[in-house]
Amino acid sequence: MPAKVDMDKIVSLCKRRGLIFPSSEIYGGLASCWDYGPMGVELKRNVRDAWWKSIVHERDDVVGLDTSIMMHPGVWAASGHIDSFTDPLVECKSCHLRWRADAIEGKGCPKCGGELTEPRMFNLMFKTSMGPVEEEASTIYLRPETAQGIFVNFDNVITTSRKKLPLGIAQIGKSFRNEITTGNFIFRTREFEHMELEYFVKPGTDEEWLDYWVKERFDWYVKLGVRKENLRLRQHGKDELAHYARDCYDIEYLFPMGWSELEGIANRGDFDLIQHAKCSGKELSYYDNEAGEKYVPYVIEPSAGVDRSVLAFLIDAYDEEEIEGEKRTVLHLHRSLAPIKVAVLPLSRNEKLTPLAKEVFNKLCPNFVTDYDDSQSIGRRYRRQDEIGTPFCVTIDFESLEDKQVTIRERDSLAQIRVPVEELDKILAAKLRGEAFDASPLWATREK
Ligand code: ATP
Repeated sequence: MPAKVDMDKIVSLCKRRGLIFPSSEIYGGLASCWDYGPMGVELKRNVRDAWWKSIVHERDDVVGLDTSIMMHPGVWAASGHIDSFTDPLVECKSCHLRWRADAIEGKGCPKCGGELTEPRMFNLMFKTSMGPVEEEASTIYLRPETAQGIFVNFDNVITTSRKKLPLGIAQIGKSFRNEITTGNFIFRTREFEHMELEYFVKPGTDEEWLDYWVKERFDWYVKLGVRKENLRLRQHGKDELAHYARDCYDIEYLFPMGWSELEGIANRGDFDLIQHAKCSGKELSYYDNEAGEKYVPYVIEPSAGVDRSVLAFLIDAYDEEEIEGEKRTVLHLHRSLAPIKVAVLPLSRNEKLTPLAKEVFNKLCPNFVTDYDDSQSIGRRYRRQDEIGTPFCVTIDFESLEDKQVTIRERDSLAQIRVPVEELDKILAAKLRGEAFDASPLWATREK
């Protein structure tokens, strides 16, 4: 049974190993803003790529899109964000801290117990102005979701992609929400990244498609290694549904602070296309050639956060084990998510070993994200790779110079196999595809 991890351990590992740093740290940081370091940027990219692969590349009914963060302000009036994208805010009359009214227990200020003001609705969109004149007419918003960029391009995509419904349009990009309360590391921040799919279907088939996407999305996390017992589904109550939603499910993950939303999958009906058609004056409907009918499609929307997924993957992969009396911290990340796939480690920084080690590195790096490390003892270098979740280490020793063989060490089993340098590429590629590799003809041991 893996160790229960608290958030402090994750935050400290992320800092120590170059995954995630506090933003503007040398100036004392900026509340709830985080920077992804050399390892974090790879992990985050792998999460995005895994989503894009499963949603866009492995299907013929979804296409991609990349729309601008700043949009015509009319978009946000039509979508209901100007009127309804609000949270109830209360302020403490003594310490002046502000809280989300629906997220606090009891009547007093959670910090000092002081009396709270009556709740007022606070709009979560960040406002800015476009162009050199700051006046009402130039007010624009940073998008709080990527979905609206998809809806306003519905007609462009339908007419240019020549695809039939059901058709999905997918987008990954930054969103901004001036959240009243942030926290729990990268769980809730004011700047984050969305991965959103708007899947357009014929009305009447929407409930079936909602079920389909709930299952698809749940399975995606499981396929990428998240333990099933740490995931659950929760249907929204009627009183909880967003203004546009007919039905909605949350995929929840057991974060250290308790079960919390990881992703939402909503049936948005025809709300958005109808609103944009009405407010823009441009018809947004679909002509079904086969049935000879025209209709406004319904939309199923799986909406996930890149950062929140990164956090769940990190927490689920984290483990502390005891190996022959020594503690090792390890991230059992799925091989497709691991920031580094292979680490090339000469046994020591010896001038005789360096040329072969470099040769091996140069051979591997065009095909796999590869790290080269010859500092400190081999044991410490293994521990470092374990902590960032590198699935395979390749060690070059003095025998390698004679027999042109190197050792592959597996992160999870700690098994070691000795293989010819010539075969290394092929063997690692198979292992990284998840294929079993028959090591029986080769020498195998477990790390001492
Ligand atoms: P919440 O109720 O937690 O405020 P929400 O239901 O408004 O979130 P959605 O609009 O459904 O969130 O966004 C979909 C996904 O985007 C969420 O499940 C989450 O993964 C991510 N997300 C939303 N807001 C944030 C945020 N402030 N920081 C990080 N990720 C976020």
